[in-house]
Amino acid sequence: MMAGSHLAIGAAAWMLAAPHLGLAPLDPPALTLACAGAILPDIDHPRSWLGHRLRPLARPIAATIGHRGLTHSIFALVAALLLLRWQGVSRALLAPLAVGYLSHLAADLITPAGLPLAWPFRRRFALPLCRTGSPAEFLIAAGFLVSATAASLGLSPFSGL
Ligand SMILES: [Zn+2]
Repeated sequence: MMAGSHLAIGAAAWMLAAPHLGLAPLDPPALTLACAGAILPDIDHPRSWLGHRLRPLARPIAATIGHRGLTHSIFALVAALLLLRWQGVSRALLAPLAVGYLSHLAADLITPAGLPLAWPFRRRFALPLCRTGSPAEFLIAAGFLVSATAASLGLSPFSGL
C-alpha cells in the first residue's frame, strides 16, 4: 500500500484500539506514534515515503533483507517491542506504535504480494482485495478512516447498539 493509505489505516486502527487499551483515541501524540508505526515497516524500501527520506538507512536494509521481508513480520514487531520495553519505554508509547505497525501488516496483507508473517519461514500470506495504488486501496483506507473517526466521535450509527 501507499504511505497515505498506511497513515489513514494506522490512525483509524489506533482510534478503534485505544479505548480497549484504556487510552485516549484522539490523543495527538498517540495518533502521531500510531502513524509512525504505520509507515515504519517500509523502511526496507528506498523508494517508499519513509525510505526515501531515510535513504542511508533504507538502502542497506533493502540490500540485506529486501522489501517485505523481516520488517513485515510478526517477529520484527515482537522483537522491537521487547527491546523497547526492556529499555524502559512506557506502555503508553509502545501501544500506539504497535497498533500502527500491526495496521501496516494488515494493510499489506490485503495486497496480492502478501507478507512473510512467519519470517524467517518463506511462506507468504495474502488476502488479495486490492492492488497497491489502486482506487480500491484508496476507498478501503478512506472508508476505514471515516468509520473509525465517526466511531471515536460517537457519530457511528452502530455506537448505540
Ligand atoms: Zn509495507
